[in-house]
Amino acid sequence: MTQSPAHPVSANLVLDEPIFDKLTLIGIGLIGSSIARAARARNIARHIAVSSRRVETLTQAEDLQLGDSYTQDAGEAVKDADCVIVCVPVGASEQTAKAIAPHLKPGAIVSDVGSVKRSVIDQMQPHLPSNVHFIPAHPVAGTEKSGPASGFETLFDNRWCILTPLPDTDQDALDRLNRFWAACGANMEQMDADHHDLVLAITSHLPHLIAYNIVGTANDMEIVTQSEVMKYSAGGFRDFTRLAASDPTMWRDVCLHNKDALLEMLARFSEDLSALQRSIRWSKGDELFDLFTHTRGIRRAIIDAGQEVDLPDFGRQAGLQQSDDGNSSK
Ligand code: NAP
Repeated sequence: MTQSPAHPVSANLVLDEPIFDKLTLIGIGLIGSSIARAARARNIARHIAVSSRRVETLTQAEDLQLGDSYTQDAGEAVKDADCVIVCVPVGASEQTAKAIAPHLKPGAIVSDVGSVKRSVIDQMQPHLPSNVHFIPAHPVAGTEKSGPASGFETLFDNRWCILTPLPDTDQDALDRLNRFWAACGANMEQMDADHHDLVLAITSHLPHLIAYNIVGTANDMEIVTQSEVMKYSAGGFRDFTRLAASDPTMWRDVCLHNKDALLEMLARFSEDLSALQRSIRWSKGDELFDLFTHTRGIRRAIIDAGQEVDLPDFGRQAGLQQSDDGNSSK
């Protein structure tokens, strides 16, 4: 695989012994292909089976040598797998669970990478046999790109991966999945699924909606021309356009499957926006200054936490940006 200088291969991360004999990835887009690359480069699995619904995607994955076997048949792909990771849009979780359920090996770990957790659990759990370990997961790492060619080995390095295990989850299976994601480079966190959905609604889903909205608003302007919007985009607009370029299918599904949390966050956001409007209308400079000072501190804290690069232009020149399906640093 060719690595761009922006995504250097990590050193010292190659395991002596693979964690899984057979790892199956259902879906081989940005996230699936990044897992495949990390798993291959770091000796995480002996055999990587790749499944995708369209033959074009599968051929692309094969050309990129992302796996050891390829099939459009998800049921076929999961046979004998020790670990199956579902990497499809969250709205396709139920149909995927139905397709793989009869073919799963007893004792296999079944996980996913969906940006929403409660809905994925509700869609998948009823169809999975009781003799497999279903452990939902969400790597909070990504970019606005899609497809097998967009992934890279270091996508998960120093990013968080949140597991939302169900009650009575087998500890050994949980440990193995934790080891798997840690080997992919992630820092591990565990959370209740509903709490995950609230946290991600504010940190990821709402920022994407705001970006989609502001870019749409600029597009509808009549008094400011389109060429002016493009020409002066470095004033701030450009940074929203990156989030607003994120995959439409993925984000449609996130909105539809995290409806309650998202509506709650949108309501709070609208209230705060109204307060901001009032501060401007009544020339409350102190209120504006206090808010902007506080938010500047939040950015500093994100940089200090290693979740952003402290470079001019947000590291754009170095190509270091991620958007973490929301956490701008996908
Ligand atoms: P992607 O690059 O668009 O790849 C999507 C994959 O899912 C492709 O293999 C595609 O297959 C398959 N797929 C699409 N629709 C499907 C359907 N209806 N039924 C079965 N398979 C389908 O997407 P991605 O960015 O990797 O996202 C995958 C998952 O990761 C999503 O659940 C998303 O919420 C989560 N996630 C994304 C990010 C991010 O920043 N992108 C970050 C964290 C988590 P074909 O190409 O063969 O159609």
